[in-house]
Amino acid sequence: MMTTNNQASTAQGGSTGTAIALPPLPYAQDALAPVISARTLEFHHGKHHKTYVDTLNKLIAGTELANKRLDEIVRACAGKGDKTKIFNNAAQAWNHAFYWRCLKPGGGEPTGALRDGIASAFGSTDNFRKEFSAAAVEQFGSGWAWLVADAGKLKVLKTSNADVPFVTGSTPLLTIDVWEHAYYLDYQNRRPDYVEALVAKLLNWEFAAENLAKA
Ligand code: MN
Repeated sequence: MMTTNNQASTAQGGSTGTAIALPPLPYAQDALAPVISARTLEFHHGKHHKTYVDTLNKLIAGTELANKRLDEIVRACAGKGDKTKIFNNAAQAWNHAFYWRCLKPGGGEPTGALRDGIASAFGSTDNFRKEFSAAAVEQFGSGWAWLVADAGKLKVLKTSNADVPFVTGSTPLLTIDVWEHAYYLDYQNRRPDYVEALVAKLLNWEFAAENLAKA
């Protein structure tokens, strides 16, 4: 389902008072193999992502947040000490819904304005791949690496735990999950091997271009 709003596009439910839903994977469970196995997606989507969504729904039930979109819940709770648990589960629900859409079997190369923005910011798509991969590998502990648009310029960022760049004003274009649960079944401790394979073979450039167009 496509909408005109970047954040809303991955926020399921909310505005009509319904619970936040677990969005289905946008491809078959075995579509990303062998880079990411069906078994990893079974656990990562069916257990980890689902638990964030289920926990969030329990935490917001009966509160003023129950009627909000997922991105609105993330923004409302970011940086609020008494809302840390809701923020962590809401942001992880948003991050995972976004991550699934950043992946696509087959890979390819960016085109058009996205290619030009990447060339302007990083010199070349190959250099972008190196910088994005380095951020993913170097993120200490659990977190995420991001390609974002920030005031018209493309940048690579990394965040810890559940943190998501849109709460500080930049627009996510692509992300890689580097929590161990994203790769441990397939790669054990070899995060660099997971990152290298994903960046070479699974990036969904069309999704990144859609996000850039709305930034
Ligand atoms: Mn994850």
